[in-house]
Amino acid sequence: MTDSAPGGRPGVRGVPENAGVRGVPENATAEIGVFGGSGFYSFLDDVTRVEVDTPFGAPSAPIAVGEVAGRRVAFLPRHGARHEWVPHRINYRANLWALYTLGVTRVVGPCAAGSLQPDVRPGDFVVCDQLVDRTWGRADTFYEGPVPHHVSYADPYCPELSRLAAERAAAGGIRVHDRGTVVVVQGPRFSTRAESLWYRAQGWEVINMTQYPEAYLARELGLCYAAIALITDYDTGVVPGGSRVSPEDDLEQVQPVTQAEVFEFFSANVDRVRTLLFDLIAALPPKRDCTCSEAIGPLPG
Ligand SMILES: [Zn+2]
Repeated sequence: MTDSAPGGRPGVRGVPENAGVRGVPENATAEIGVFGGSGFYSFLDDVTRVEVDTPFGAPSAPIAVGEVAGRRVAFLPRHGARHEWVPHRINYRANLWALYTLGVTRVVGPCAAGSLQPDVRPGDFVVCDQLVDRTWGRADTFYEGPVPHHVSYADPYCPELSRLAAERAAAGGIRVHDRGTVVVVQGPRFSTRAESLWYRAQGWEVINMTQYPEAYLARELGLCYAAIALITDYDTGVVPGGSRVSPEDDLEQVQPVTQAEVFEFFSANVDRVRTLLFDLIAALPPKRDCTCSEAIGPLPG
């Protein structure tokens, strides 16, 4: 049995207490959730496929529930089973709510990402510890009012889950950065050179299109969330081999990345992601030793 968020389900206004539970078989509960990213559409072989109904609509795909090292794991490809959901059209609320409904308390979000710094190389993993939101128009809260509820988000990621992810990656021989700021852009387009140079000059390490609001919605449900960014390419403003955060560097820049290159790179590396996930899940202590479940604060009355 896993620990649960204090007070059970969050007091989301207008959503019945048992919303989404309908139709979930007993053997489909899980304690750990894993999101699949671009090029990562399946995780486990022996699974129960569960279609979860949520008050926010359908999640990106049926959820595959199975076991890793005796732990119950729910896998959900955030872009859908055939990559039919582009980043700004993903139903993030339904995805997080569906995992929550199955009993998930910890979520790992592997994702494809670009590097904004020369020392963060393609093939590296970055366990992010900070996030900058540059998206717009995405449904990014379960608290729609009328009573306001402002959730603390100073530290967006679970320290315990993130530390373990970085430790297991390093132990597995992966070149991993145990911290990094991800700037989340709206997409689906990639950045202009000016945008990329600006992000880089801020000292941010990673650029991605899906971490927000995925990571934030986990927080609103009291779930732990860790991001494992697989670097697929240098963003357009980065000079490989150059120095960090030096806008005065010459502007001999890398060629803009293409979607096909990102997908191909991630697919070629998906086994490394899968191996790390197996290792991480096996290493997770049964009980959470963090404050993520309390971070939502007192619910609105
Ligand atoms: Zn946590």
